[in-house]
Amino acid sequence: MVEVAPEVVESLQVVPVARKAAQPQADRSLSDQAGPVSQQLELVADEIRSCKKCELHGSRTNVVPGQGASSPDIMFIGEAPGHDEDLQGLAFVGRAGKLLTKMIEAMGYTREEVFIGNILKCRPPGNRAPYPHEMETCMPFLEAQIETLRPKVIIALGSTAVKGLMQTTQGITKLRGTWMSFCGIDLMPTYHPAYLLRNPAAKKDVWEDLKEVLRHLSRPVPPAKKGKS
Ligand code: URA
Repeated sequence: MVEVAPEVVESLQVVPVARKAAQPQADRSLSDQAGPVSQQLELVADEIRSCKKCELHGSRTNVVPGQGASSPDIMFIGEAPGHDEDLQGLAFVGRAGKLLTKMIEAMGYTREEVFIGNILKCRPPGNRAPYPHEMETCMPFLEAQIETLRPKVIIALGSTAVKGLMQTTQGITKLRGTWMSFCGIDLMPTYHPAYLLRNPAAKKDVWEDLKEVLRHLSRPVPPAKKGKS
């Protein structure tokens, strides 16, 4: 079970979710999946919408809490919203998002069957990298989301995601493809789709990482589509 520190709960002003999340996935009833989990996610999203804890609130158009299934096998976590995400209030809807959709579909899932979120919930101006204090300030929201969702696997997309979650200084090239654990949840680091747009040759490495996740979940591993980029 993920322990959410009292100060996290207090700062979020949402009810503690630890008891709910302590239930194993298989024990959750259907009404649980449609009810309290999504309600809890909405509470966290409400807190995000009213957040003014760092300077990013001043330049955002919309917050981007993240979206997707309330009982997902996989939670994808990226860095921060970009221009398109800021305009739409949805995670990964720009060019990198389109590639993420292809990755998800290549794994045999739809976007609606997974959860897609970010370390930061507001766009850093000009898409600069998040500052450490922004990541620290924003992390309690992500922790509350993870605690609520209890995905079977977290896929950390890129070095900011893995740094934010694992407090590591090691780069993504070293870490990708190796299992880690975030509060008892298996975590697979891999390259960020935006990196893949700049370095298509790395797609084969990401596909290896995604196949490893599928094997871990005992899901069929679809053959890679030839000639697709
Ligand atoms: N890059 C990210 O890390 N997250 C998004 O939501 C979009 C682009």
